Amino acid sequence: MNPPICRRCLLRDLDDGSYARTVEEYIAAIPPRQKASSEEYEKRLSLCRECSRLVSGMCSLCGCFVEARAAKASQHCPDTPSHW
Ligand code: SF4
Repeated sequence: MNPPICRRCLLRDLDDGSYARTVEEYIAAIPPRQKASSEEYEKRLSLCRECSRLVSGMCSLCGCFVEARAAKASQHCPDTPSHW
């Protein structure tokens, strides 16, 4: 049985946890100087949660896992206009 599609969910909210662990490992490997601050990271994710493009932790506009994308300081939301 496929897991339900969840709009407004991040990977951290989903049951399975395997993708979330992979993303956490990716984020942990980002050099500290390249990481968004914790405050900026959570602000970005809050904006993603309010966005109609978020589907089961993935941005339907660019196909990325938003928790991974938001973790890098140099990244930005791909929408026009950008949400963050
Ligand atoms: S369009 Fe931007 S705000 Fe919306 S889910 Fe994608 S990255 Fe997040």
